Order: sequence, then structure tokens, then C-alpha cells
Amino acid sequence: NALNFSGGPGALPAVVLAATQQAIHAVPEVGLSILGISHRSDWFAELLATTERDIRTLLNLPDSYAVLFLQGGATLQFSMIPMLLLRGSGRVAEYLRTGYWSAKSIPPAQLEGAVRVLWDGEASGFRRLPTADELHYAPDAAYLHYVSNETVEGVQFHQCVGRDEVRRICDMSSDFLSRPFDPERFDLVYAHAQKNLGPAGVTLVVIRRSLLDQVPPDLPEILDYRAHLRAHSIYNTPPVLAIYVVAQVVRWLLEDIGGLAAMDALNQRKAATLYRVIDQYPDVYEGWAAPEHRSLMNVVFRLATAEQEAAFLQHAAAAGCSGLRGHRALGGIRASIYNGLPLASVERLAEVMEAFAGG
Ligand code: PLP
Repeated sequence: NALNFSGGPGALPAVVLAATQQAIHAVPEVGLSILGISHRSDWFAELLATTERDIRTLLNLPDSYAVLFLQGGATLQFSMIPMLLLRGSGRVAEYLRTGYWSAKSIPPAQLEGAVRVLWDGEASGFRRLPTADELHYAPDAAYLHYVSNETVEGVQFHQCVGRDEVRRICDMSSDFLSRPFDPERFDLVYAHAQKNLGPAGVTLVVIRRSLLDQVPPDLPEILDYRAHLRAHSIYNTPPVLAIYVVAQVVRWLLEDIGGLAAMDALNQRKAATLYRVIDQYPDVYEGWAAPEHRSLMNVVFRLATAEQEAAFLQHAAAAGCSGLRGHRALGGIRASIYNGLPLASVERLAEVMEAFAGG
């Protein structure tokens, strides 16, 4: 697991895996396997409450925001958000189309109302992000939606975009809790667990409570954030195991890592370790992202030919490094280095890359 560079699900910290293994056998406080503990138990209610508290501490989140643990992945948020904020609004939602995942977020919104693609990076191969002077925001948009880190192409916004007068909505699936951000600049942030937080099955939503003052009348209850809020995220059977792992990860972030600034510093070091090798061997490796938009989470690069990429993957596999094949939509190589992957693993991959390049 220490050399697993998979893009999704990501590698998790060893202490979290050990705690999870123990919990599958028996949760110490309960004496039952986590797989058989009722989601209606007091123990689980307490687990959810503690996890929410820890997330609030990590983000320094004010009470004007709710934290929800939902299902349906980040993909369901592509629909739930425009159902809440665009349907019947008579306004236009603005979307940044900066890569594979933000492109996927647009068609579900178009079913709910008018959408304007404010910027489209497809012509530039999704290798860079827009500059400030390329973004001409409408003054009265229903909201602006963007993806902070494009998992497939490895491009990442290093500051928040949009104007504070327009609701800012962000898919942080692949960089949530990897660095600090100011939650009060956002109206809704969502992230599935299976990158930095845990296994698939649970998706975190941080939503400004006032967004729920005006909800369209005809939503099925399960797609209405208010139903989940009222039910304290136990509207229907939640993924207890996945939430248990998230609880361990946020504890680890708080107690072992020391918070999001410390996590960010470590993630910066990890990413720099790989980009340094890419830049050192330009005849062998070509980084995909423009240097100023390089992702700290997904380091995407190519070699000159498909044969060389196959040889590289074989060389890396022989050294124990797995999960490096690029996303099927883009090809090439992708080293995903989420929170849970230790610096030592990244240093090992850097050595493997140097050795392959003949260094
Ligand atoms: N958004 C981003 C940034 C992603 O990386 C992914 C998948 O990896 C998704 C959305 C889709 O997530 P899910 O499979 O949880 O629906």
C-alpha cells in the first residue's frame, strides 16, 4: 500500500488501515464488528458527531455552515446542486470547463436550467487553467461552479476564483483537506471520500445553511439537502464502514499531522519531489500541466512514445510502484500522491524515475 499511486481510490495512512482492520474484527468500545453495528446505535450517532466536530475544527468552520455525509458520490452533487440553485431560478449558472470532471458536471446542470460555460480549456488540452483576465463573470449568475483540482489532467487552482457577490460552488473531491482554504468564501463545497478521506461510499458536503431557505417545491426528498440535515445524515442507511474510516482519517489529520497547514507543507514537498525529476529530464518526461497550474495531488506526465510509457510502467512495477497508469481518458502516466501517501513513498518513486531516465 505504501507504493500505491492510484488516482482513485487513493492510498490511506497505515495507522488508519490498522484501526480499520481492528474495527472489522471488533470496534474496541463496542465489542462488535463495524460491519454489523447498527447505524441507529448511539455509538454511530456519536461517531458522526465527533467526525463532524473534527472536520469543523480542521476547517475552522462557522456554525452558519452545515456538514452532511451523503451517498451517490461526487456525481450526484452534479445534479443536486443545480436542482437546488438553478431549477426555476430564471438565472444562468456559470461553469468553468477545465478538465474531464468539470466537463462531466455540466450536462446535469443543463437539465435544470441555463448554463454558461465561462471558460473552456479543451482547445488547450486541459493543460492550463484560465487567467483572471480571461474570466468575464455575469453580475447576476445563480452561482459559479468549478473543480479545484482536475484529477485526470493534474491541474489545480492555487487560489479561489469567482467574485464574492456570486455564490461559489466547488468540487474539491481530489484536494479536500489537503490544504487550508477559507470556507466562508464558498457557499457549497463537496468532496467524495475516496481520495484524501477514506473509501468510496460517502461524500462530504459543506453547505451554507442560508442556501436552504429557498428550496424548489418538487424535489424528491432524498435529493433535498434539508432532509439529510434534519436526519443528521442518517436519512437512510449510511455507509457505516466508510464513515468510520473518514473518522480515523480526520483524527490522523488533527493529531498526527497537526492540521491542514502542516498537511499542505507536506503535500508541497511531496509534489516538488516528483516535479523536480520531471524538469530534470525533459528529454524523457513531459509534464502535462502548465507549471503554474501543476497539481499537488495528481502528477501527470508523458513519455515520448507508448512503448516508452509501457517500459516505464514495467520498470516502476518491478520496483513495487503500482497505480501509475494514466486515466483512461488521457493516457500517459499519473502519480496520485494524496494525503495518505507518505513522503518516503514519493521519494522512492522519484528514485525509480531517475533510474529509468538513466540518472
Ligand atoms: N469530481 C472529481 C474531481 C473526481 O475526481 C471524480 C472522480 O474521481 C468525480 C467528481 C466523480 O466522483 P464519484 O465517482 O464519486 O461520483
